[in-house]
Amino acid sequence: MIASSQSPLSGSRLPIIAIDGPSGVGKSTLSKLLAQELGFVNLDTGAMYRAVALAASRRGIDPDDAVALGRLANKVVIDFARNSGSERVLLDGEDVSAAIRTPEISLLTSKVSACPTVREALVRRQRELCIQGGFVLEGRDIGTVVFPDADIKFFLVATAEERGRRRFLELRAKGVPVDLAKTVAEVEARDAADSGRTHSPLRRAADAVAIDTTACGIDQVLAKMLHLVRSRQAAAVAGRE
Ligand code: C5P
Repeated sequence: MIASSQSPLSGSRLPIIAIDGPSGVGKSTLSKLLAQELGFVNLDTGAMYRAVALAASRRGIDPDDAVALGRLANKVVIDFARNSGSERVLLDGEDVSAAIRTPEISLLTSKVSACPTVREALVRRQRELCIQGGFVLEGRDIGTVVFPDADIKFFLVATAEERGRRRFLELRAKGVPVDLAKTVAEVEARDAADSGRTHSPLRRAADAVAIDTTACGIDQVLAKMLHLVRSRQAAAVAGRE
């Protein structure tokens, strides 16, 4: 869905909303719902890093080979097909929506995404895709690196135990054989890798609004986000009058 009205927040382009935070915190669900409510498009930047990791693994590229990874990230075509409510991720035309979500590819993605050549290629692509605004982007570095001038920035947090539990239930529902303690440990390992890396580590932008989702249902968090977006829009309109 493409946003249809000019932003009351930013004069020249439609708004950009950034949602950052660690894995399993609810970013994907919330960014889809928020985009739907606002008539925006959501962009799952994690899926782009996952697609590059999958392509690297299939080609047997060493995750430490920055040159080969950068070349690959610039070459592969990553698309999103938005048909009948479900979003599919396409890698060079192939539907890889399930293949990019296995625990092995999740861990490999944390490694591949620490590579500066990969980040450079994907950040450029994300900026090109969203140039006209009207997007809700979710990731790790949206508010700090990709769009530091985003109109509204959210930073979602939740305990590692709760995020691991959510990921466990999600994978189990899909029939993937999983173990709870192992899933929590994997979440913690990805947190450490994403927060500790040199390039674009996961961190809250100074002007991001933090929301703790540990004990909140999706509806509650969505309501908070919508309230903030609408009050900012109203304040911006009032400021111009
Ligand atoms: O959001 P998701 O869990 O699908 O992201 C998978 C991985 O991609 C993260 O663990 C992180 O390493 C990487 N990522 C990133 N920057 C983003 C989005 C995701 O480094 N903007």
